[in-house]
Amino acid sequence: MKTAAEWKKYYADPAFHEKYTYGGHDLGVQCSEKGTAFRLWSPCAESVMLHLYENGSDGTAYADICMEKQEKGVWAYHTEEELHGVYYDYDVTIDGEVQKTADPYAKACGINGKRSMAVNLAKTDPQGWEKDQAPRQPVENIIYEVHVKEFSWDKSGGFPEEYRGKYKAFLCEDTTLFGDGVHHTGCAWLKDMGVTHIQLMPCYDYGSVDEAGDADEFNWGYDPVNYNVPEGSYATDASHGEVRIREMKEMIQALHRQGFRVVMDVVYNHTYSLDSWFQKTVPWYYYRVHEDGSVSNGSMCGNDTANERPMCADYILDSVLYWAEEYHVDGFRFDLMGLLDVKLMNRIRRELDLRYGKGEKILYGEPWAAAETAMEGDAKGALKENLHLLDEHIGIFCDNTRNAVKGSVFDVDRTGFVNGAHGLEEDILKSVRAWQKTEELQVSAPTQIITYASAHDNQTLWDKIRDTVPDETKWIDINKMAAAVYMTCQGNLFLLSGEEFARTKNGLDDTYKEPISLNRLDWERAWKYEELAEYYRGLIALRKQLPGLCDKTPDAWKRIGNMWSEPLAVAFAVDNTLENAEPAWDLLYVVYNSRSEKLQVKLPDGMWQVLTDKHNSFLWKESREISGEISAEPAEVLILGRKNEGEKEKA
Ligand code: CA
Repeated sequence: MKTAAEWKKYYADPAFHEKYTYGGHDLGVQCSEKGTAFRLWSPCAESVMLHLYENGSDGTAYADICMEKQEKGVWAYHTEEELHGVYYDYDVTIDGEVQKTADPYAKACGINGKRSMAVNLAKTDPQGWEKDQAPRQPVENIIYEVHVKEFSWDKSGGFPEEYRGKYKAFLCEDTTLFGDGVHHTGCAWLKDMGVTHIQLMPCYDYGSVDEAGDADEFNWGYDPVNYNVPEGSYATDASHGEVRIREMKEMIQALHRQGFRVVMDVVYNHTYSLDSWFQKTVPWYYYRVHEDGSVSNGSMCGNDTANERPMCADYILDSVLYWAEEYHVDGFRFDLMGLLDVKLMNRIRRELDLRYGKGEKILYGEPWAAAETAMEGDAKGALKENLHLLDEHIGIFCDNTRNAVKGSVFDVDRTGFVNGAHGLEEDILKSVRAWQKTEELQVSAPTQIITYASAHDNQTLWDKIRDTVPDETKWIDINKMAAAVYMTCQGNLFLLSGEEFARTKNGLDDTYKEPISLNRLDWERAWKYEELAEYYRGLIALRKQLPGLCDKTPDAWKRIGNMWSEPLAVAFAVDNTLENAEPAWDLLYVVYNSRSEKLQVKLPDGMWQVLTDKHNSFLWKESREISGEISAEPAEVLILGRKNEGEKEKA
């Protein structure tokens, strides 16, 4: 067998590309009443044997079929039988070595994904699927990041026993705390919260949890095995390949019905291990290798996909389109997007726009890599520094804002604006306008910015505050302040599930394989910290009424004016007008005071309604009006609105 470096040279030869790049989009298995077609791309194979099984994990093959080599390195077999529910794998012989492999393009599989399954997808649709539709695009994207198992595993959620930790839990629309019938949990809680998008942490088939193992096994799931198949441990039955497909569709259907859009977390930058279907069918084609033959490891997970190579790029594009089309997924969050080729990201954007309308499917990702990567040719990574090369509708997690608000995530002791750091006032003002027109970031429009204070990585916001602020009595105030700051910044809003109820992971910062008992959402805590959660609810409800902050056009930054700052204090005005509409307030004035003392602020001319203070984020429902000066308490955000003249006349 050739070495990795030799393979790299072989694939770099334009002759390989010429001869073997396959333009078809029918790889894998196509199965319907009319028949079943198997197609595998394995250009260097000397022979490919297809094995059919009745079972997804054990037993011997009931049929062994010699595949026929066709154009462009594709091996094919067609039968007029509908092989729905039949399991299969391949023996691929390359350089005289035989390797058993599942199908990298599989759409269904048996337990733990070891054998692929032929599936007639029409037979996996839940009732009413053809009528399933995403709710209309909201005025603001408020993205809530949740892990399927964390969401419903805890008994306090009041979910039916058999649905705990499963896709099915999202079908439960009216769960309450231990089933008390009063205190909402689960989807009902999310609805009260006003979030618009549910971002699901990985739910493609991943490798770190044994689907036949203990029900309490836990992992975040950033270790893909079968990119186009749902994870089995979240299904009520992982051993019958069609069940996970139907149940994931049911989950998305239920979320749509309840008014949420669904974003899928996708990890195309690396695979669980190098011992993958990719590697067994086309050795080293799908992976980056350095010139000296060492494996590229920019993901720090053992390998990086070579997504700048045509067939790998096509694979990823087709996979995204498949989830959008077959599962009605409304958006994608790209893990370590910095490892993906800018051209590929823009191509995915373009193809989604062509099919669904411009920006209809939301796309964003982490604009960084974990380490150096061996990207080939003139490809550029979708990194922060290349933001200007990315489409206006591809967003990035904005660590600039996150760090300005609460301090660096890599240094536990580092603080940000809300927990006492000095000198961040300018960064906070830049955060407010989503870093448009700044030296740090070349932002085309606020569509490109995900504004947030916490995600699954790193400490929770609560733990960060707890570990940096000695005085326990200040924690709630500071948490409220952090929320009010980032929710009055432009960009798309994002939060880790439970941030609104002081979620804790005991200070740990990377809990990907910690027990579920640590990672689970604790719905008792949601009600224990009801005051904080209520504060979040008010902020979210208010945000949706503030077009000046929701504006995603390239000119949005112009709305922020009258900027003022002094140590640990910031204030600014927001033009809140909207063409052809009459928002309740035409001008906003926002004050952030992170000092331990009161701050006296002179208001711009006019009568001002206090919309939010540190105690109540629903003040906009009342009509407390002031003019002249206002005093901001320690650790307080004040949001004020000037009554729209048109509105006034109506009143
Ligand atoms: Ca799995």
